[in-house]
Amino acid sequence: MKIFEKLKLAEADFPVVLLINVYSSKHGKKDIIKIENKIDLDLTMLGLIDPNLTVNIIENDEIVNKMQVSIPKEVQGMFKCKNPRCISNFDEYATPKFVLAHKNGKIRYRCSYCEELTSYTI
Ligand SMILES: [Zn+2]
Repeated sequence: MKIFEKLKLAEADFPVVLLINVYSSKHGKKDIIKIENKIDLDLTMLGLIDPNLTVNIIENDEIVNKMQVSIPKEVQGMFKCKNPRCISNFDEYATPKFVLAHKNGKIRYRCSYCEELTSYTI
């Protein structure tokens, strides 16, 4: 649903199919979004929402390309640094930049400006 929202598919002028709770032998169940058009996909954004996501490009009923999205190692400008004193929060030219870091088994991003660890919400 989040991806559906982020890609603004509710406003699309081409056919879009959203399937929820489809049986999957690998994951138990999965959700599928079928987009009948060529659109630009931001794989960094998709990886932040769901690192287990797969993108299939289908042409003439055949899968011509399969992309496994993964959690991005570097992120620019997708979310804000949680440190209120960080330069990226008040200098409009300092685009927030983060590098993937793990803390206690959780995914965190380390700010390239102030080193603060941030959990992200997008
Ligand atoms: Zn920062």
